[in-house]
Amino acid sequence: MISENEARAKILEAVRPLPPRKMSISGALDLFAAENYFARLPLPNFDNSAMDGYAVIASDCKKDARLRVISEQPAGVDRKLRVSNGKTVRIFTGAPMPAGADAVVMQEDVTREGDEIVINGDVEVDEFVRKRGCDLGEGQKILGKGDRIVATKLALLASQGFAQVSVGGEVRAAIISTGNELAKPGEKIEPGQIYDSNSVLLQSLLKRSSAAAASVENCSDDGDSLRAAMQRAAGNEILIVSGGVSVGEHDLVQKTLRDLGATIDIWRVAIKPGKPFLFGQLGRCFVFGLPGNPVSAFITFLQFVRPAILKMMGATDVDLPKMPAKLTVDLTNDGDRAHYLRGKLENGNFAPVGRQESHALFGLSQSNALLRVGTGESFKAGEIVHIQAWE
Ligand code: AMP
Ligand code: MG
Repeated sequence: MISENEARAKILEAVRPLPPRKMSISGALDLFAAENYFARLPLPNFDNSAMDGYAVIASDCKKDARLRVISEQPAGVDRKLRVSNGKTVRIFTGAPMPAGADAVVMQEDVTREGDEIVINGDVEVDEFVRKRGCDLGEGQKILGKGDRIVATKLALLASQGFAQVSVGGEVRAAIISTGNELAKPGEKIEPGQIYDSNSVLLQSLLKRSSAAAASVENCSDDGDSLRAAMQRAAGNEILIVSGGVSVGEHDLVQKTLRDLGATIDIWRVAIKPGKPFLFGQLGRCFVFGLPGNPVSAFITFLQFVRPAILKMMGATDVDLPKMPAKLTVDLTNDGDRAHYLRGKLENGNFAPVGRQESHALFGLSQSNALLRVGTGESFKAGEIVHIQAWE
């Protein structure tokens, strides 16, 4: 049995970022930038009006002053207009500022009388003017290599005219759920059978990790079937096998992998739940053997599979986001494995929830965060702990 940190380090050392690809910005959400991006345009790109109103010279604007409206400047075209003393240009939100004007008066703050406006009060220089480059300067970094591309970053890329973005390579994953007891949801269940919940769990977790399930198969605990399924899967970047990694006679994953010439780099990790976790390599495919118990599969995916996928996709930060929370109970870990407690983070408090056993799927379904309690570690109620959030 190796420590959790050793296992993670070994996995992250084995996997490498995949070759990057260019893709349309519309498809790049939640992928990772494969290069640094810099502003090629300032934002805004030209001085423009923040309001529908009148472009003026601020010093002209005293109460009851009259200005003559000489022209109109709509958004979308620069009419190259000029404002001089005693004159004004009708202007609209987003329209370029005419030369000479140094402020915009809101239309609500003037009285229009024919081709004149009457000013209601003082106006400050730069009022309602969005100055060129005030938000973003040309050459400023807008996206870093390895950053997650979120919606706002995509909008920023678009604002710079980028139609495409270079992102890390695609991770295709095969899922094999093993077990003679498994029936597919929707099928009729026989006595002694259970529904396969890990396949959809792992597909969903893959999706949340911005990877795709290339295939999902169920496989009985039979060497030949498992071997054939693994051979079909080996063309993908990763293979996730659920179940069959323990020590029973029906746990054939390790033996079958060895028969196929795979290397087994990790088997059994000091993590609770998830001890029988396995990691190896079948040709160029990285194989993750997750214990069949749903909570074990969930935890080992988040702690071992997710970081590997993110690294392969070029992410800089492969850890689950951590946040502080106030613990509601005392906790101690007297065992020899790091314990991941499932709990609920609500209003800044973290409370363990449901049965803390590896089969307890309902308990897991009520939780939204994990607390890692290392071996020999204790926490007191009221203490601030750092929890991991996965949603
Ligand atoms: P195993 O890791 O194969 O020894 O399975 C451990 C426990 O997890 C057993 O109770 C299995 O019935 C259960 N299990 C295995 N695979 C799945 C699955 N795909 N969905 C739900 N439970 C499973
Ligand atoms: Mg099994």
